[in-house]
Amino acid sequence: MEGKKTNYQNRLFIITIIFFLLGFLHISFAIAGLACFIAPFILVAVYKDKVWCRYYCPRAGFLSIVLSKIGLKRKLPSWLTGDRIKRIVLGYFGVNLFFITMSTIMVSIGKIEPIEMIRFMIVFPLPFKMPQILDLSVLAAILHLGYRVYSVMFSSTVIGLVLGFIYSPRTWCIICPIQTLTTQKQANKSF
Ligand code: SF4
Repeated sequence: MEGKKTNYQNRLFIITIIFFLLGFLHISFAIAGLACFIAPFILVAVYKDKVWCRYYCPRAGFLSIVLSKIGLKRKLPSWLTGDRIKRIVLGYFGVNLFFITMSTIMVSIGKIEPIEMIRFMIVFPLPFKMPQILDLSVLAAILHLGYRVYSVMFSSTVIGLVLGFIYSPRTWCIICPIQTLTTQKQANKSF
């Protein structure tokens, strides 16, 4: 990636907004959000660098733009910069991923019904049902997976907004599981 220093996050932020809006059209579109879990690792493998986090991540762009002019700008507390919180968040998302995978398999083989609701942090259902503007007929497993991916993206974006409002716009990046998994011996200074 030598010589390619353009940061596209300020343009790609719109993908975050489109992602959440598409969920209102039909939740199955949310499966596209899996690209944000996979792309960072492919780019790290190819370029040996956190290209996604530096130049492309739509969420980073979204947080930077939305929170650029607002926020409390508090000093980062030590618990947010230590390894412990990163391990906790990574563990939480690992459990979440396991739950998503297993429950989607169970739905696909007809053992359980799809969970057709958005849940914040896995356990807290939103007090309203997502409007579905398009009346598409999709497999139950696709429906379930769409809701689950949307829930993960929604939860982490809300947490990112809260942290970003209190501290600095991209505070979420410090504890983001992608950051933790793609950082080896580098310090958290790549965003
Ligand atoms: S740390 Fe997470 S949110 Fe931040 S740029 Fe990387 S992938 Fe995006």
